[in-house]
Amino acid sequence: MLERVPEPIKILTQRFSEFPGIGPKSALRIVMELLNWPEEKVVSLGQEIVNFRSRLSPCSFCQALTERDPCPICSDPARDDSLLCVVVDLDSMFVLEEPGFYKGKYFILGGLLSPLEGKEFDTLNLDTFRKRLAQKQLQEVILALGSTVEAENTASYLKNLVKKEFPFLNVTRLAQGIPLGAEVKYMDRETLRQSLTFRQKF
Ligand SMILES: [Zn+2]
Repeated sequence: MLERVPEPIKILTQRFSEFPGIGPKSALRIVMELLNWPEEKVVSLGQEIVNFRSRLSPCSFCQALTERDPCPICSDPARDDSLLCVVVDLDSMFVLEEPGFYKGKYFILGGLLSPLEGKEFDTLNLDTFRKRLAQKQLQEVILALGSTVEAENTASYLKNLVKKEFPFLNVTRLAQGIPLGAEVKYMDRETLRQSLTFRQKF
């Protein structure tokens, strides 16, 4: 599709098509749109892309990328210091944060254990995690890592770590099971198994 396109347009189109959810056609549309923009707007976008990484660094408490350390969530006195929700990455934190019902703090793990892909314990932010667990107001660690095989393995590893080194802390996980509005007969086996394992008193 890009054979007859001038090289600069082609290069930029290929770059944009590396983004999730953007195919070559959409990428080309973005580049065409940029051609219509006034030059100073394009230059300013380029500058913002160059600068945005250097303006962010990990919060020393939760590891979320932030402009100031501690980040706004860790430094918010209205948030509950007894709860620590452990998530894989920054996007997961944003998604959990968006509805506004969670009032505790977070910790960003930085990945999941996946020995087959060479992701061992040293790829996670475990030193910072231990420091965070040692903070005295903390009572409960909520594991919100998802339900993939890697997430399950990582959750077990973290549960054992907390039980062994910080036995006074409670470890919980997000409830798993049947989504709202779904019927039992359409459930996949794994979801059903989890729903039955983590059944609740009624
Ligand atoms: Zn923080």
